[in-house]
Amino acid sequence: MIRFSLGIFLLPFLLAGAGAVPEAAPWQEASGEQPGLRAGIYQNPPKIFLDEEGAPAGLFPEVLAALSKKAGWAVTYHPCAWADCLVMLEAGEIDLMPDVAPTPAREALFKFNQVPVLRSWSYVYSRPGTVVQNFEDMAGGRVAVLKDSVQHGKLAEMRKEQGLSFEIVPTARHNETLEAVAAGRADFGIVNQSLGEALQNGFDLTRSQFVFQPTALYFAFAPGTPDGLIAEVDRHMAAMKTDPQSAYFTALEKWMSPAREPALPAWVIWASGAASLLLLAGAGIVVLLRRRVAQVTQAVRLSEEKLIRAQIIARVGDFTWDLRTNGVTWSEGLLHLLGYESETEIDLDKVLEEIHHPDDTEWVLNWILEGAATGARTLGPETYRLRSKDGAVMFVEANIVIEYEDGRAVKVFGTCQDITRQVKSERAILRAKQNAEEASRAKSQFLATMSHELRTPLNAIIGFAEVMQMTAGGSLNASQMERISYILTAGEQLLNLVNDILDLSSIESGHLRISVEKVDVGETVGECIAQVSQMAERGKVTIEDRLPGGMPVLLETDGQRFKQIIINLLSNAVKYNVDGGRVRIYGERTSDGFFRLFVSDTGIGIPKAKQNQVFETFTRLHPDAMVAGGGAGIGLSLARLLAQKMGGRLGFESEEGQGSTFWCDLPLEFDPDALSREVEVDRPVRDVNGNA
Ligand code: ADP
Repeated sequence: MIRFSLGIFLLPFLLAGAGAVPEAAPWQEASGEQPGLRAGIYQNPPKIFLDEEGAPAGLFPEVLAALSKKAGWAVTYHPCAWADCLVMLEAGEIDLMPDVAPTPAREALFKFNQVPVLRSWSYVYSRPGTVVQNFEDMAGGRVAVLKDSVQHGKLAEMRKEQGLSFEIVPTARHNETLEAVAAGRADFGIVNQSLGEALQNGFDLTRSQFVFQPTALYFAFAPGTPDGLIAEVDRHMAAMKTDPQSAYFTALEKWMSPAREPALPAWVIWASGAASLLLLAGAGIVVLLRRRVAQVTQAVRLSEEKLIRAQIIARVGDFTWDLRTNGVTWSEGLLHLLGYESETEIDLDKVLEEIHHPDDTEWVLNWILEGAATGARTLGPETYRLRSKDGAVMFVEANIVIEYEDGRAVKVFGTCQDITRQVKSERAILRAKQNAEEASRAKSQFLATMSHELRTPLNAIIGFAEVMQMTAGGSLNASQMERISYILTAGEQLLNLVNDILDLSSIESGHLRISVEKVDVGETVGECIAQVSQMAERGKVTIEDRLPGGMPVLLETDGQRFKQIIINLLSNAVKYNVDGGRVRIYGERTSDGFFRLFVSDTGIGIPKAKQNQVFETFTRLHPDAMVAGGGAGIGLSLARLLAQKMGGRLGFESEEGQGSTFWCDLPLEFDPDALSREVEVDRPVRDVNGNA
């Protein structure tokens, strides 16, 4: 609330009779008593005013009190309106007026002291929305100002000298000046700064940002005032102004410091404090947000650059195709991938006519548009060809995402990755595989044909040799008979080889035929031993059959192929044995449903380093072993393939110089699912009791 009220204007009677002419100046009476000074007082807080009790208050009365104390004067105050006060001063009805700015006109009428009591200036006030930055802005307007104040004089002077066109609205009090503006009776109001600051909170007005008429304020004295008195005022003023502890500074501090400004309601102070805090916090947040935005922008730019670099390195790019406008945008990665500069403009026609490979354009377009028509969210991966700027064909793998709005496809986003190298190497591998398969087929075909063609003459050779052996009687001598037996041995060896090759090629071509039957292991092994017995005798190797007697072991397998495997293992055990060596045959059921047949020998064994080559076709690990019936290195590989094709397995253990033990597992019960798909199987025919 403003500390003074308008009601105080009614209180001057307490001090001196209102309107009554004050006594004559004391020095004029020259009574020798303490001089009495009559001072005019009017409402211009905080500089000078009558407080709520009607007592003089403000800076000037306090300074004057200090002065009069020093000088020994008694001061009485005479309330008057400003203009009236000046008239009274001129007439010598009062002796001094505080708070007066000298003007040439006033200097002609009054006396002024020399040391200013206060420096002062004014502001222009206007209603919110009207901004005054200079006097030209007031042109054509009504300017309220305290009648006969320095501001009034200055305004009138400026209007005259500078030809400004504003109208002056004189007021009786500063308060009225602001009231006139707020009520619209005037457009602008000029009020002294200290008073304006005190009053403006009571009005919704805006203060100009420029200072009007900075001036210094003095005591004005009646023209008849002795100069000595005025000089004394100045002396005391000067002394007080050089002493920071003086009453002058106390008064200045009390009335003119911000603390003296009219008190505002607490809520206004709190609200403005809170608003300031909010503003401050808001400003802080704005600064923080700006900084954060800058950081995020920088981070986004960095990750964009990284993405571009990553796309270039990975040879990937992305594109968007707006289906509503047909606008196409390409990422820098895609432009780079296809050899275009960063700024190149890409449109749909260019994509379809220049960039897509002519053979792929139509189907790729259909692929995307059909996907969009059927509501597909993603498409791909799909491979098609693009042409780079220099015309080179590039295979890309594309993945597409389609965006929809209200069920309508609106945007296609896709990525393209260069897979040219991959496609080319895949094609090369495919070509090589096809060539290899072709060569393998040709080889198998050749082997099968040749073996078949070899078997007929071989059989003839063996057959005629046997006939000669049987029918020669005494017509051939011993050495001729021996040569016939060589023909027979070599012929059989060759026939075995040819048969093995034929079997191998039929396994390779997937045409091996398996006839499953009940096979008695003991019986089969007995037949095989009989077949290799001559060979064993020649090599002085004994063969021991150690299979368990009693209940026969029956396998569901191909008897002929089983025999082929056993003969192969037995003949190897004899061939790679030593003079007086031994071959032992034995077997056992395994826990997983197989019968394992062992063929062990006390022969030369296989060096550890060569054991991994045992099953390689046409590989002989003892090429210099001059053993009878040395083969071509396909017996074991064929035996193992046969065992596998019958659902079994074949393996060995060997110690160089100690001997070897080969074993063959065959399933006790036939399980067609365990057999390879290429094997054609004749199932055993069973009677109603399940017997084969
Ligand atoms: P081959 O017709 O030469 O006997 P195989 O495929 O049957 O061919 O055997 C391959 C090679 O494994 C043989 O050349 C031989 O060096 C070695 N080998 C096979 N069985 C035995 C064995 N019981 N003892 C020592 N070496 C063997």
